[in-house]
Amino acid sequence: MSDGRALARAFLEQQRLLGGDAVILTAAGAGTTAPAAPAPHATAATAPVARPPAAASPAAGASPPPGLSYDPPSGDLFATDPVARADSLGAVAELVASCTKCRLCEGRRHTVPGEGPDDARLVVVGEGPGRVEDETGRPFVGRAGELLTKILAAIELPRERVFICNVVKCRPPENRVPQYDEIAACLPYLVRQIELLKPQVILAMGGTAAQTLLDTKQSLGALRNQLHRFRGIPVIVTYHPAALLRNPNWKKPTWDDVRLARRLLR
Ligand code: URA
Ligand code: SF4
Repeated sequence: MSDGRALARAFLEQQRLLGGDAVILTAAGAGTTAPAAPAPHATAATAPVARPPAAASPAAGASPPPGLSYDPPSGDLFATDPVARADSLGAVAELVASCTKCRLCEGRRHTVPGEGPDDARLVVVGEGPGRVEDETGRPFVGRAGELLTKILAAIELPRERVFICNVVKCRPPENRVPQYDEIAACLPYLVRQIELLKPQVILAMGGTAAQTLLDTKQSLGALRNQLHRFRGIPVIVTYHPAALLRNPNWKKPTWDDVRLARRLLR
């Protein structure tokens, strides 16, 4: 099989995984403004015109309306905090490794500071480490992580090119939602990571990441489909991959969100 055919097949397989028929329509030029248009079924025969979304025209979808903007203080206000002075992602990870600023340090096996290149253009933020993450010290390596890896591959971003992290760096017991004080204690690490990375886009996966990055209590549903900002950096809000594993109906909207995030990358 030619490289092109193999690529097209891999692409269609990703579409199937993500429930994304509509993407093929868009990439083939039908546009996103005509959701009611008859949807020819995607087959291998249509593959040559189906291009990955990264190659689709920039006009393929309008930007969503502006949303919230959060500018947490930095610099002088944190000047006594070593986290604010950490001068590399490695230095942040070292501080995390010995952190006891909240009760989540008690049950952890490993801290999970996050991973990815320091020139990553996209930062993905989840909620907190789960069991496999706690065992390995790496973010998003369990089942939800496998799905995230596929989602990133589908937008032509190998996970090695993305910085992947969480709001809290230690596993909450039984994977419960991190509590407000735990998030507050851990937030300086995430803020510093974002300051050092200066990404072009942040993808907030799930309510905890979205509410933390935007300093709001609004629901995930209310926060989707808006172009928010964290310190001026565009923030796209979408479902958490673990939620997608429970509710496949959310795959299509997630696919729309990640394509939007992809389009915002220069
Ligand atoms: N869920 C998260 O939010 N983060 C992980 O790292 C793994 C699962
Ligand atoms: Fe420190 Fe964050 Fe772990 Fe709490 S969750 S102990 S603040 S690294």
